Amino acid sequence: MKEAFPQRLRAVLEERRAAGLYRQCLTLESAQGPVVRLAGRDYLNFCSNDYLGLAAHPKVIASLRDAATRWGVGSGASHLVCGHSAAHRELEEALAAFTGRPRALLFSSGYAANTGILQALLRPGDTVLQDRLNHASLLDGGLHSGARLRRFAHNDCADLARKLDAAAGPTLVAVDGVFSMDGDTAPLAELSATCASRDAWLMVDDAHGFGVHGEAGAGSVQAAGLGEAEVPVLMATLGKALGTSGAFVAGSELLIEALIQSTRNYIYTTAMPPALAAASLTALRLLHEESWRREQLAEHIARFRRGARQCDLPLLDSDSAIQPLLVGDAGRAVRLSERLRERGLLISAIRPPTVPAGTSRLRITLSAAHTPQQVATLLAALAECWPDA
Ligand SMILES: *Cc1c(COP(=O)(O)O)cnc(C)c1O
Repeated sequence: MKEAFPQRLRAVLEERRAAGLYRQCLTLESAQGPVVRLAGRDYLNFCSNDYLGLAAHPKVIASLRDAATRWGVGSGASHLVCGHSAAHRELEEALAAFTGRPRALLFSSGYAANTGILQALLRPGDTVLQDRLNHASLLDGGLHSGARLRRFAHNDCADLARKLDAAAGPTLVAVDGVFSMDGDTAPLAELSATCASRDAWLMVDDAHGFGVHGEAGAGSVQAAGLGEAEVPVLMATLGKALGTSGAFVAGSELLIEALIQSTRNYIYTTAMPPALAAASLTALRLLHEESWRREQLAEHIARFRRGARQCDLPLLDSDSAIQPLLVGDAGRAVRLSERLRERGLLISAIRPPTVPAGTSRLRITLSAAHTPQQVATLLAALAECWPDA
């Protein structure tokens, strides 16, 4: 019987190879940035989530270094044992203030936060309704929560309303603020009104809106004019626009205290390194100090969309840093990505199961750290490669 495992593993590899969906890591030889080094060659990087160029910002690096000198490297324990430091507390307080909520709670990753929060909030007999295009971590959290999981059509409030009418028990609606593979924004005002009219709670995962959208980068929920009353559970990650790593949930005193008591992904894991919390706090301050980064990013987005329209490229409806081009066929998406790679551009082909079958795409991401010339180079390369790939 022990042969069952290697057999199963070989079958996974063969299946993925046969379907053209085999995946491998790239190994960078440089820091994250608009230009990265791979196998001795420099590439223009259009696939990172470092939307503001903070991942290698000198002040963020200095802050990490200084904090490591003061706090050491490892946190040494989970938050509830003795791994919680003043650096963590300071970041939690700053995140709560920035998102306009009484409290915030740190997690080591967004995946851990989402799966943990949903498992802590939901019980058998509840219903969780999720946008069909939600991030895998929200879907996984819902699946493992014991609640009934239903998906509604993407950004479709009428479909959500129908499913809310049919829902049993306490009901939580969870959506991405900005959808990670499409770049479009959830209609948060309309969603919150639909939830309010049917007594459901709304949770927003703003991994891609936090730091970019809203006043000073406060996120999609703030940009939609909503607060804690409308969106009681706000989650975002630190590893995208903030350029560091980790995640947080912000909400009421009641929500955060109850999550501390009952979230397994918070309780049974080592706290993030304190120096990382300190570096994240510095990145948060840079959102205010260097607001030109958001303006620069907005200019790049407008520049890219103008240029792509001129070349008839199949843009999606996105005003975020995520500007995917829909290809359809997975093989063609990979070919395009390879052609662009030969020209020195790094753009990932996103294929099933990350996106639905037949909707493979090039997921282009823009950063404030890019120059206008680099965006022009991207457009020229796309215009050249697109027609004959
Ligand atoms: C990246 C991402 C996550 C996971 O965050 P990590 O910190 O990378 O684990 C969760 N939700 C969304 C929408 C994301 O894009």
